[in-house]
Amino acid sequence: MTTAKKLNLRFVVRTGFLFYFIYLCAKLWMFYLWAVGEGAYVDRPEAVAGLIPVGAYMSFFLWLKTGFFDVVAPAGIIIIVGALATSFLFKRGFCGWICPVGAVWHGFGWLGRRLQGRTPRLPRGLDLVLRGVRYLIAAAVLTWIAMVPVAEAISFQQIPYYAVSDIKILSLLVRLGPIYLAVAGLIAVSSMLLGNTWCRYLCPLGGLYGAIGAASPCTVVRDAEKCIDCGKCTEICHAGVKVDTLVSVHAPECDGCQDCVIECPAPGALEPRIFGRWAMPVWLWPVLVVGVWIAIYAAAELTGHWDTAVPPELFKAYILNLGI
Ligand code: SF4
Ligand code: SF4
Repeated sequence: MTTAKKLNLRFVVRTGFLFYFIYLCAKLWMFYLWAVGEGAYVDRPEAVAGLIPVGAYMSFFLWLKTGFFDVVAPAGIIIIVGALATSFLFKRGFCGWICPVGAVWHGFGWLGRRLQGRTPRLPRGLDLVLRGVRYLIAAAVLTWIAMVPVAEAISFQQIPYYAVSDIKILSLLVRLGPIYLAVAGLIAVSSMLLGNTWCRYLCPLGGLYGAIGAASPCTVVRDAEKCIDCGKCTEICHAGVKVDTLVSVHAPECDGCQDCVIECPAPGALEPRIFGRWAMPVWLWPVLVVGVWIAIYAAAELTGHWDTAVPPELFKAYILNLGI
């Protein structure tokens, strides 16, 4: 497959989600401007609940424990369900094909690889330690959120700050304080030098989705008889997986990007497969990831689990009262 096709497959899907996310953020900002009397009314987009993962996970665990579904930012729970489902079914399919934050840092990693002419790697020991820290942080954060008592989680959903915390986060990003700029610059530079450091070492949600994806029924499978041992799959893998030594890629770092399959010069040596048996065309992987994502969203819309129950005027009152 040509480079153009490779770029088309991954670049189009990820860039599409990234631009959609930017559009949603712009819409939320226009809603905020309306609330503070500086613009015309614009509908508040629900999907921006993804900006507040801690609150969304608290609501998610509350739902699991009690069956109570958040009515303030219900889309946050749906986004988590979508991320968990695509991560389990398609090896961190959310990280590899949907997450807009990952797309940005992956772009810097790609740029670094182009400039250096190779996929940068940390020494193996340091890489293992840093990856281990990421899983520990993920386990600690999620355990802490899961253990929040039911009464406290319900109270948290009722405070005005929770309803507008996505706007608060967006306003901090838009105003680009020096600390945000410094952190973003550090991640961008480190991603260019060492590959996508955010997704590989820092993002706690990536740790959770990677652990879940290790049990995925869909994996990249290598046929040792057709493999010509060229090592190109290992060389291209941004996640540092030694694909050319494996039979089936279960590594939690694999995000199902399909770069190795596309790069492989030996027909049939490397294929995405379901339960290691049924091969699928490489383009079907992202189609299924996006299809599952859209199906979950559509089901939430149809069953009334997507839109907030908070009226726009109440959001406006919260924004003005909190002085955001
Ligand atoms: S290149 Fe292959 S092994 Fe590496 S992350 Fe992508 S799909 Fe997984
Ligand atoms: S790129 Fe294909 S042929 Fe080359 S080592 Fe990997 S699986 Fe084997």
